[in-house]
Amino acid sequence: MRPALTLCLLLTMMTPTTIARNTHMPETATAASSATPVPPPPAWLPGLDALYDTQLRVAGLEDRSFTAEHWWSVATPLLEKQRGFRTEEIGRSVEDRPLRHVRWGTGKTSVLLWSQMHGDESTATMALADLFRFLGEHADHPLVKQLQANTTLHFFPIVNPDGAARFQRRNAQGIDLNRDARMLATPEARTLKALFDQVKPKYGFNLHDQRVGYRAGDSDRGTAIALLSPPYNHAADVNEVRTRAIEVAGVIRTALEPYLAGHIARWDEEFDPRAFGDLTTQWGASTVLIEAGGIEGDVQKQRLRKLYFLGMVAALDSIATGSHAGVSPALYRDLPENGDVWPDLMLRGGTLAVPGHPPTRADLLVNFRNPLAETDGAIADVGDLGTKKVRRSIDARGLFIVPIAGHAGERTVIEANDDDSEDTRAPAPLTPGASARFVLSRDPQGRDVVWTLDGNVDPAAPSPPGS
Ligand SMILES: [Zn+2]
Repeated sequence: MRPALTLCLLLTMMTPTTIARNTHMPETATAASSATPVPPPPAWLPGLDALYDTQLRVAGLEDRSFTAEHWWSVATPLLEKQRGFRTEEIGRSVEDRPLRHVRWGTGKTSVLLWSQMHGDESTATMALADLFRFLGEHADHPLVKQLQANTTLHFFPIVNPDGAARFQRRNAQGIDLNRDARMLATPEARTLKALFDQVKPKYGFNLHDQRVGYRAGDSDRGTAIALLSPPYNHAADVNEVRTRAIEVAGVIRTALEPYLAGHIARWDEEFDPRAFGDLTTQWGASTVLIEAGGIEGDVQKQRLRKLYFLGMVAALDSIATGSHAGVSPALYRDLPENGDVWPDLMLRGGTLAVPGHPPTRADLLVNFRNPLAETDGAIADVGDLGTKKVRRSIDARGLFIVPIAGHAGERTVIEANDDDSEDTRAPAPLTPGASARFVLSRDPQGRDVVWTLDGNVDPAAPSPPGS
């Protein structure tokens, strides 16, 4: 990624409202003296960064799609009692998978961190394994000693193991657990609420991934990390509980700014009385929502995993030492909101050559179930798609788009919020909803093939030669 200091400086001087309304903000505007400077990162950061690469990254989590059973097989050896960990089963999922609580530390400040309540959002869970290794294997590290003495950390990794088994957002019943904080209809949500009531955290961390296509504000830059201090009411008032959360979010930004300047955003503060972060704030825990978006080329989110780890350590350290007190709320407020979501791949200017239909000039838009790896693609739109912005585009002028015979099938899920599930008609081979399986060919019969998209983009040939 390229650094984008200009816009960063510009954004830090603007109020969030200004950013939202000013959609034609020039990137070349000069920063005014009222810009809130981001303080230097913590002095320990370079050392911990280096330590991470050699001694903290836990092996066995190189693929971001893993089952809970696999993750626990990797994490459990790190959780030895003599290293201060206590692990207990606290419930069972709908499909009877164990839900576990890990506890570490002897301090008086209680912190609750829960991950992967959406089953396909695994970045934080990978980073938690690294954090366990840090806490367990580096007892003499000053950061660990400070945490051990001043905090008690409560972890609930993989709140949604049934969803993780399918690498899907929702639980086995199709329920979004992060909309079940009020009803507590699911065993997973009830288990999280019971743990919250038991440990009465002063701080909470609600750990997620968000869609890769999100842009930071009005910019063209993808959001790598998004932060939110969830509101506890519709007015999004700020009380003492939220003040602490906003400070901690500012600490996370400060630590990650050297890596991700311009790629850090925040979520909007619309109150949702069904969402956990909103209610844990209401219940008195200073809660920070962390969302991992994407870094182009970081296909398995391994780079983002490390940054997530560093951000969490910075947040926890500021809690253990109390150093977040007095951090400027502008560090959080000045972040651009998550803006547009850019679709994944556009083929511009090709000619559809579907058997039985006349050849037709059309752009073709493809979204992937895994946008960074470009796998499991489906047609999202077709026709004159104008100047629509996308994460990647391919010039298909002069080429025919020919469906791969006999393989076009119906796609059921493109994005978690796709509500077209009642439409059971099988789409034609290149219409929205169809699996993205076609070739780019110099002839309409698909004999002189220059590029193939077989649901997945071939990493060895991501684009047609010469494009
Ligand atoms: Zn989520």
